[in-house]
Amino acid sequence: MEINGSCVCGSVRFAIAGRPKMMGTCHCSRCRKLGASTIVFVGREQFTLTAGDAYIETVQPAPPFIYHRSFCRRCGTSLGEPLSPDPSFPINAHCLDDDPGVRITFHEHEEDRPAWEET
Ligand SMILES: [Zn+2]
Ligand SMILES: [Zn+2]
Repeated sequence: MEINGSCVCGSVRFAIAGRPKMMGTCHCSRCRKLGASTIVFVGREQFTLTAGDAYIETVQPAPPFIYHRSFCRRCGTSLGEPLSPDPSFPINAHCLDDDPGVRITFHEHEEDRPAWEET
């Protein structure tokens, strides 16, 4: 099973071999503003960037925040951390074009969930 993903303009494309390890939603303001609040964790061995690495821009946050964020320079789509050197890293679930076969199993920073957001 291969799960494909892409940014809005189609410049950045990737493929995930098999099911992602897990899916979850973070309700913190940073993830919400990035538009990447629901993510899937993938293993590096199952992730292949098939196109558009030249379009990926990465933002390094000021301390105390540690997670960098990547997006497509052409269309602004938030991608997660596709260039992470870690053995497992988050990818924006909203970029997936196929059903990943996993569902949301955890929520983080529930206390930051905005009042208008449905539970
Ligand atoms: Zn794009
Ligand atoms: Zn967050």
